[in-house]
Amino acid sequence: MSKIKSLIRKNAKPANTNNPILDNVAKSDASINMTANTPIEQTRWNGWGNVNINKKVSSHGAKLIKSHIGKTKKLNSVSLQEVLKTVPKSRLPAAMTKLDTVSIDNEVRLRHARGQSFPDWIAMHGGDFEVFPDGVAHPQSTADVETLLKLAHDHDLIVIPFGGGTSVVGHINPQKGSRPVLTIAMSKMDQLIDLDNESQIATFGAGTQGPAVEAQLDAHGYRLGHYPQSWELSTLGGWIAARSSGQQSLGYGRIEQMFAGGTLVTPKGVITIADIPASSAGPDLREMMMGTEGRAGIFTEVKMRVQPQPEEEVFKVVFLPNWEAGKEVLRQAVQSNIRLSMLRLSNAVETDAHLHLGTTPSQFLAISTYLKARGLSSEKVMLTYGVSGDKAQNKLALTQFKKLLKQQGSVTGKLTDVMGSIWAHGRFKFPYLRGTLWEKGIMVDTFETATNWNNIDEQVQQMQQAVQTALADENEHVMAFTHISHVYKQGASLYTTYFFRAAKDHASTLSRWQKIKHAASLSLANGKSTISHQHGVGRDHAPYLAAEKGQLGIQVTSDMLKSLDPEQRMNPGVLIED
Ligand SMILES: Cc1cc2nc3c(=O)[nH]c(=O)nc-3n(C[C@H](O)[C@H](O)[C@H](O)COP(=O)(O)OP(=O)(O)OC[C@H]3O[C@@H](n4cnc5c(N)ncnc54)[C@H](O)[C@@H]3O)c2cc1C
Repeated sequence: MSKIKSLIRKNAKPANTNNPILDNVAKSDASINMTANTPIEQTRWNGWGNVNINKKVSSHGAKLIKSHIGKTKKLNSVSLQEVLKTVPKSRLPAAMTKLDTVSIDNEVRLRHARGQSFPDWIAMHGGDFEVFPDGVAHPQSTADVETLLKLAHDHDLIVIPFGGGTSVVGHINPQKGSRPVLTIAMSKMDQLIDLDNESQIATFGAGTQGPAVEAQLDAHGYRLGHYPQSWELSTLGGWIAARSSGQQSLGYGRIEQMFAGGTLVTPKGVITIADIPASSAGPDLREMMMGTEGRAGIFTEVKMRVQPQPEEEVFKVVFLPNWEAGKEVLRQAVQSNIRLSMLRLSNAVETDAHLHLGTTPSQFLAISTYLKARGLSSEKVMLTYGVSGDKAQNKLALTQFKKLLKQQGSVTGKLTDVMGSIWAHGRFKFPYLRGTLWEKGIMVDTFETATNWNNIDEQVQQMQQAVQTALADENEHVMAFTHISHVYKQGASLYTTYFFRAAKDHASTLSRWQKIKHAASLSLANGKSTISHQHGVGRDHAPYLAAEKGQLGIQVTSDMLKSLDPEQRMNPGVLIED
């Protein structure tokens, strides 16, 4: 009990300030610049995030994972200097290399060659990048982008729009081919350009990263509220182009509810998407251009629907006896319109893993003993929830929600409230664990989907089964767990994390991942679930897209993209296989 008290005391400072994310997460890391983007040199060239930030894994957390997958051995990693030696001479024409906006520096090219997918990590650590962009442009305006696309046409270049490079599905990787590749990095278009207070529309450069979006809005008392876990580095343009979803989508909406319009520079000219609140004038251009993953053109300025900073924001954790009880709480809460800002339900395996990974052994023992004393078994599940709004609204929502929780036998108290604050403080640090585990030879990746409530259990069962048995031919065990991460009246998104052992080298480790990824993707390609709820399609999901859209659907999308990019120079092969 004294361990619990010390945990409560240590985290007693409430997270519910006006903007807990800026106050408690980013500002606590001096290395995160709050008004402009993080320079790419300040990020890891072969892994996740800011070079100044690390996250340790608890010894009993690592032990738990190894108890599922077996003893592990670290993979070798090459140095930056070694990879730099493999960067070939740029093929860009001289006329382009002389432009102020274009760099052919080897390190700049290397840092824009790969994203954050598992194959990207293998390539970066193994030093086998295969292809680098021939140059990287950093436009500062829509006019610069127009000039670059004109030059790309004149010199027959492939163009890859690049936001934060946080893609986890192979969105921004150049491919082998005869045409030189120009990556257009949007990082210098990172400012708030206009704020319409009356309509609550903020216009931003499309390359603005999450912290810079919120800090610039915060100065005017506004908030966007889009918090993907990659928030630290991902950008508005990337969110729109890949149809992203943030952790508080229940309260703030997905990116498609936030994106009001803007400017898209295409090879055929500029499309201005009017920021009209609603329209019955034919198919919605705004919807048609979202999710085009750099194939239709480049978003340069984007108009976002913002809202005043909430008076209060609170996050809490509660435990329920089992998955069924937790799922019932989520479904009833969303279908009865309780005004929560987030809901996340971990299954029993994830609950246990999170309790191990997020605590010291003595804290773990104290929490487990407490939950056991309150009648919970190993079937227990952890539910994280939040409210965001004025105090009276929040109070009402919390009262309504607690009633539902109580009906399902919830366990809550000061300790679980503190766990909510801990989650809010650490929510953007979890991705740093991937690098720490990698160093121990523990490979980790995720995949996600969405499906109707009536298919949730079957889908979870199929996904888990597919992943856990994917390496049976090698006699390898895969540890997998799932949470519900976004809820809708009709259904919910499911997010699975899995761990497996590194093999003897990079190539055979990649082959293990390919088997798991294929099995997981097949389990989703069933006409009832999406191949991706928030990560997009990229190259990794493109082969499975037809199961969701149908051949005619693929054809219509492909024709639309070709009408804007007849020479197929914009990110070919992404979204739709060519
Ligand atoms: C640790 C981690 C956690 C993540 N968590 C989440 C999450 O919670 N929710 C979520 O939705 N995603 C998440 N992702 C995935 C990723 O962050 C999203 O796909 C995000 O939308 C990508 O944004 P970006 O700016 O990094 O784009 P990039 O990765 O640079 O590009 C993604 C795609 O968008 C295109 N693109 C980028 N900018 C533009 C532009 N201005 N105009 C036209 N096309 C453009 C690119 O060509 C590419 O096809 C996560 C990724 C990581 C590594």
